[in-house]
Amino acid sequence: MSRLLITGGTVVNATGPIPMDVLVDGETIAALYAPGTGPADVGTLDATGKYVIPGGIDVHTHMQLPFGGTAASDTFESGTIAAAWGGVTTIVDFAVQRTGEVVQESLAAWHAKAEGNCAVDYGFHMILGGVDDDALKAMDQLVDSEGITSFKMFMAYPGVFYSDDGQILRAMQKASDNGAMIMMHAENGIAIDVLAAQALSRGQTDPIFHGLTRPSVLEGEATNRAIVLAGVAGAPLYFVHLSASEALAKVAEARDAGRNVFAETCPQYLYLTLEDQLGAPGFEGAKWVASPPLRSKHENHLPDLWKGLRTDDLAVVSTDHCPFCMKDQKELGIGNFTKIPNGIGTVEHRMNLIYQGVVDGKLSLARWVETCSTTPARLFGMYPRKGVIAPGSDADIVLYDPNGTSDLGLASQHMNMDYSAWEGFRIDGHVDTVLSRGSVVVSDGTFSGRAGHGRYVRRGPSDLLR
Ligand SMILES: [Zn+2]
Repeated sequence: MSRLLITGGTVVNATGPIPMDVLVDGETIAALYAPGTGPADVGTLDATGKYVIPGGIDVHTHMQLPFGGTAASDTFESGTIAAAWGGVTTIVDFAVQRTGEVVQESLAAWHAKAEGNCAVDYGFHMILGGVDDDALKAMDQLVDSEGITSFKMFMAYPGVFYSDDGQILRAMQKASDNGAMIMMHAENGIAIDVLAAQALSRGQTDPIFHGLTRPSVLEGEATNRAIVLAGVAGAPLYFVHLSASEALAKVAEARDAGRNVFAETCPQYLYLTLEDQLGAPGFEGAKWVASPPLRSKHENHLPDLWKGLRTDDLAVVSTDHCPFCMKDQKELGIGNFTKIPNGIGTVEHRMNLIYQGVVDGKLSLARWVETCSTTPARLFGMYPRKGVIAPGSDADIVLYDPNGTSDLGLASQHMNMDYSAWEGFRIDGHVDTVLSRGSVVVSDGTFSGRAGHGRYVRRGPSDLLR
């Protein structure tokens, strides 16, 4: 295959920026050179004035997820094309086992949806919605043979995905044995369901009551309980979509004690609020119904989360990309906020939104790359194949233009939605060129990739456990 030298750019890895030329040979990175010292007999890609970063890795997406009588509106095809546009070259989506289902059959169903349809590489975590003896046995098989080393459980959604503390403990014990990571949706769903029913009985049906009936202390409580249970089992633990100061404090405490406890947050919890978005007039707030909910701007959640990203108490930024259209989907919840499908679409915008944090002085360039690419790869067993610009790594590369701008909104987005949760956001930077395993898939404002280019990524154990 052809060789390509990316010249004149500044390579940014998690270790920081350094001017280097990058030689791509076929699907992988062959070598790095001091500027101007690479081979002359190859094609070149001019990266002058641009950052050359490892492709984004979004470890929390839900393409075409069935939820609440409908399904997330991005297919694996449309969602991974949108990901590519946004500088994301690997997603890790969630295959779902529900109570009574055989884990391997559920996984096969997700492979069938994704295979041949993805524009960028993809892996799977496994959601365990029904932990029993068979499901516990299946965890070993997935780790040993299927390249799935992470299992997600829910302390929320009673009757749907919910696991009780005993089920959680048993899965954690299994993970402690086989080296897998337990991922947790930490909200006290039993208590939330009581508050939600009481609100509805008072006639409080608007979207904002989705947030008001899921108070942040109930995320903090569940976070603490999961940390205690993981300690009993001796298992590593990763919190998905952490949104609340109370939860962050518990994670920080566990990390200070040397525990294998990790957490991600998502752009919506860093930028959007209960009052300004979820509390929008009429039914408009439904656009931002997700769980956990957007948090109050009158509390300290947003600055605390940015600080957590700086200090590594938050290790990862993912999106929890789970888009629904307003028409026929979010509208299912008119008159009853508990019927609004939960989810926000952001897979296309994460690299831009977190880069804006660099521009605003909240994060370093290195930390942008680390939280959006390198640590996701390391935590979920894809490093150093993914998550770094280094010889031997897959040539998943983004040329990012710090002098460009990006206007987020319905008119320009590629996600399959009839609105944008980010309408009107302007980013002081731009995804210029995207390579997926050596192939240019986005350049000059054109998508040149194809569905089916993306391959399944078999993942190994986390390399961040201590
Ligand atoms: Zn999710």
